[in-house]
Amino acid sequence: MRVALVTMALRLPTDQSRWITVPPQGYAGIHWVVSNQLDGLLALGHEVFLLGAPGTVPASPAVTVVDAGEIEDMHAWLNGPGASAVDVVHDFSCGQIDPDRLPEGMAYLSTHHLTGRPKYPRNCVYASYAQRAQAGNDVAPVVRISVNPARYTFRAEKDDYLLYLGRISEWKGAYQAAAFAAAAGRRLVVAGPSWEEDYLARILRDFRDTVDVVGEVGAERRLDLISRATAMTVLSQSTMGPWGVVWCEPGSTVVSEAAVCGTPVIGSPNGCLAEIVPHVGTVVPEGSAFTREQARGVVAGLPGPHAVRAAALEQWDHVVLAKEFEAIYHDVLAGRTWT
Ligand code: UDP
Repeated sequence: MRVALVTMALRLPTDQSRWITVPPQGYAGIHWVVSNQLDGLLALGHEVFLLGAPGTVPASPAVTVVDAGEIEDMHAWLNGPGASAVDVVHDFSCGQIDPDRLPEGMAYLSTHHLTGRPKYPRNCVYASYAQRAQAGNDVAPVVRISVNPARYTFRAEKDDYLLYLGRISEWKGAYQAAAFAAAAGRRLVVAGPSWEEDYLARILRDFRDTVDVVGEVGAERRLDLISRATAMTVLSQSTMGPWGVVWCEPGSTVVSEAAVCGTPVIGSPNGCLAEIVPHVGTVVPEGSAFTREQARGVVAGLPGPHAVRAAALEQWDHVVLAKEFEAIYHDVLAGRTWT
């Protein structure tokens, strides 16, 4: 098949003349999701046209990077001669593409990566049942966030720190991760961009002695941090999120990333985490009231690196999940629709 993958087009915060690529240069969850899906489609022998990420270096001759990042340019390409070869459009842009502006009859589906209702719910696939329920839907397909093991490093020997990797925001639970680490008597390495300075200041005020803020990481540094950690902390909280609804962790890219590196996950029950964390770690309550015994017991009882990686490959391997999408592409081509 010839598949047009549309990522959410975003400019690099540090250089507005460039786009975030696939895979991304640093923090960017959706771009990693698209990267893993693209790898999976290539492994299945499909051809990919990538929109929304100009400047991406194509992973193989089967990938065409379309020079369209602006929303109007993406619509123009999808309505132009280049798109006539495309069998199906798989849209990860979370509302940048308007499906009603596509040519009549073009096979289309989207994947939702935000919290709340998708802007265009027609033919939308969700990353978890919790995310789908929050969108008021109980029929749409659910496909988990995949991971390509070749892009990650497995390590069986771990260092003694816990890791927080992501945007340092209230709903992502960085503060609760710091509280958990302090209770467990572990250092917490906090990696990721910080756009809410008051929030970061509060973490540093309360956990100065146990938190190590290293900023946004990419490339080898990111893989090294993930693969050496005793555990990844993903303590998302049911607090008001960035899109005007209470946060419901949609798919959590870092869970499958950590697990494939053999790093177990300590997660809250928020959103998708209640569904995916038990396979590769332990779920702890929301909030920051962890006792020393509880936190130490959780860390001591985490599954080992080999078991965690095996579970990740069994459930979230990029080729297995690309096959799930391949089946949905066939359904859409056969005329199936859902809202
Ligand atoms: N990430 C990164 N560098 C950082 C922080 C995060 O590359 O400094 C990546 C991380 O590996 C993951 C993504 O950004 O792929 C965050 O995605 P996730 O779904 O966990 O969170 P969200 O998209 O909700 O912020």
